[in-house]
Amino acid sequence: MTLIDGKAIAQKTYAESKAAIANLKARGVTPGLAVVLVGDDPASRAYVRSKDKMCHELGMHSVKHELAADTAQADLIALVKQLNADPAIHGILVQSPPPPHIDERAIIETIDPRKDVDGFHPISVAKLALGDADGFVPCTPLGCQRLLIESGIEAAGANVVVLGRSMIVGKPLALLLMNKGKGGDATVTIAHSRTRNLAEVCRRADILIAAIGRPEFVKADFVKDGAVVIDVGINRVDDLNTPKGYKIVGDVAFTEVAPKCRAITPVPGGVGPMTIAMLMANTIASAQRFAAGA
Ligand code: NDP
Repeated sequence: MTLIDGKAIAQKTYAESKAAIANLKARGVTPGLAVVLVGDDPASRAYVRSKDKMCHELGMHSVKHELAADTAQADLIALVKQLNADPAIHGILVQSPPPPHIDERAIIETIDPRKDVDGFHPISVAKLALGDADGFVPCTPLGCQRLLIESGIEAAGANVVVLGRSMIVGKPLALLLMNKGKGGDATVTIAHSRTRNLAEVCRRADILIAAIGRPEFVKADFVKDGAVVIDVGINRVDDLNTPKGYKIVGDVAFTEVAPKCRAITPVPGGVGPMTIAMLMANTIASAQRFAAGA
């Protein structure tokens, strides 16, 4: 059984990112990312902080807008339009979830699709569905695909089961792995909460990807011998043996599943580190396109 090391693979992508940034800087361009946070959700705040930190580590331009929880929709839209017009910004991200009075969809649709590095704008979704290479793909699915490629796991022709159909992970990941080309060409099944005989469907997978947000839900009887398992889940569960009183577990019951696998990602240290790495890669790709006059 191979443990897929997301941290090491993320580091490899950062080395590529640094080279691409140096190249852009030599042409007078510094890739710039703007992250907008509305409200003070601690998890969102931590995500925003780590995105900002990574930009600085790579020598990218980073702008953080932290707005009060009662910020009006119109003011948020005005800020996004201002960022759309800012030539120093190549990527715009509005941290999810916003407070309930904000219409998230309207905010996402205000982002210039050329700066939609999260890949959630309808234009980006359509381009992914069409198989166009010039759209942005959401970062977590892109990270999962990259883990497979870097681990030498061939998606082409494989039976892939994606457990979960969210617009952030499951659906775009299924499209990505189904599309033609490198890291794609898989035969993809999407399973969700209404799927009948879920364990049996999952057992058909050569590559099983769990993205449901249910702690250790995927048990050994969901997994075929020799399958590859990618665990996207990040779930906080109580654990009084830890100083914080909780620990993070995935959607897969790792201890019982791992011995059956050809390869598996751990949680933490699997998919997690790839998400920010792919956000950086998308922002750099955007800067390259702007520099090329797109
Ligand atoms: P959502 O809650 O948006 O979607 C969950 C999906 O799982 C839904 O499609 C739902 O089905 C399905 N589902 C839920 N329960 C079951 C069940 N018992 N059986 C079968 N299907 C089920 O979650 P996300 O996609 O946003 O996130 C999924 C997980 O991935 C979470 O743990 C999240 O924290 C993690 N995550 C990790 C990231 C990373 O960087 N590693 C980034 C983003 C998310 P239905 O549609 O029928 O309701």
